[in-house]
Amino acid sequence: MNYITRFAPSPTGPLHLGHAFSAITASDQARANGGKFILRIEDIDPIRSKPHWENRIFEDLRWLGLDWPEPVLRQSDRLSSYREALDQLIAMGVCYPCRCSRRDIRTALSAPQEDSRGDGSGGPVYPGTCRFRSMSDAGAQDSIRLNVASALDLVGRTTAAASPARMNKRASGSNRIARAAPSPGLLAFTEVGPIRTGIHRIMKEATRSRIGDIVLARRDIGTSYHLAVVVDDAEQGVTEVVRGEDLFEATFLHVLLQDLLALPRPTYFHHPLVRDESGKRLAKRDDARSLARYREDGLTSQEVRRMAG
Ligand code: GLU
Repeated sequence: MNYITRFAPSPTGPLHLGHAFSAITASDQARANGGKFILRIEDIDPIRSKPHWENRIFEDLRWLGLDWPEPVLRQSDRLSSYREALDQLIAMGVCYPCRCSRRDIRTALSAPQEDSRGDGSGGPVYPGTCRFRSMSDAGAQDSIRLNVASALDLVGRTTAAASPARMNKRASGSNRIARAAPSPGLLAFTEVGPIRTGIHRIMKEATRSRIGDIVLARRDIGTSYHLAVVVDDAEQGVTEVVRGEDLFEATFLHVLLQDLLALPRPTYFHHPLVRDESGKRLAKRDDARSLARYREDGLTSQEVRRMAG
């Protein structure tokens, strides 16, 4: 088996214990499976991404004793590939342009909503204000959203119509594809992490109400985390995605994008998050728990590895 996993940080702040845990878990998984651990720099946001944070990521990970093949892929070098994938999705008729600001979205939501979108972003679920708009009137002021309902209908029809030969062909590709037995209109992924081990199926209604029409291409950068991560995991032959459980629901969306774009399906390993004493998950602004701070304070990488769990 050709096992490949990755750690994919954004160079927008210091790595903390949670990142250390994620990177070590991925690297351990690669070792346990006799495979490869790769590092990818997710720097699609040109304002928030900074070269000095990228250098710190390399330093921190080396200090933890991790090792990865060079050259490291940077998402900022891959914008044309994301554009190609976006064009494919547009051609399928599952996208629409959107000009809503954050404030428009808040105003359009009739009831005050918890910031609770299930894709790890913490934003509200988009109420669909621009869903009636067509791509033919898209302009420079627009971001591009995925019409999740249309996308689910489209892959539902394709899955239902898929012949056994097609499913077998897809399931025997060079990447390990964990695909449950096809059932009409249902997409599935295999979770091998400790929290929710098993096969998870997309529930159409839940995907619509919990995730909604996410942005595929921000107006400023022409792509988004979701699109870039799906395209790159396929491009890099990632067979198992190891990441925090905050992204568990985002996986439903990633599986949907993989099916639309006919990309192979990795298995998923969502690990628990490292939390502070009050139970809050660590954030980049928690500089006190940054790996660099522990290093400066004289802790050894072994001690930090133990603290990360
Ligand atoms: N760049 C993302 C993050 O830092 C990676 C998430 C993923 O592994 O898919 O949270």
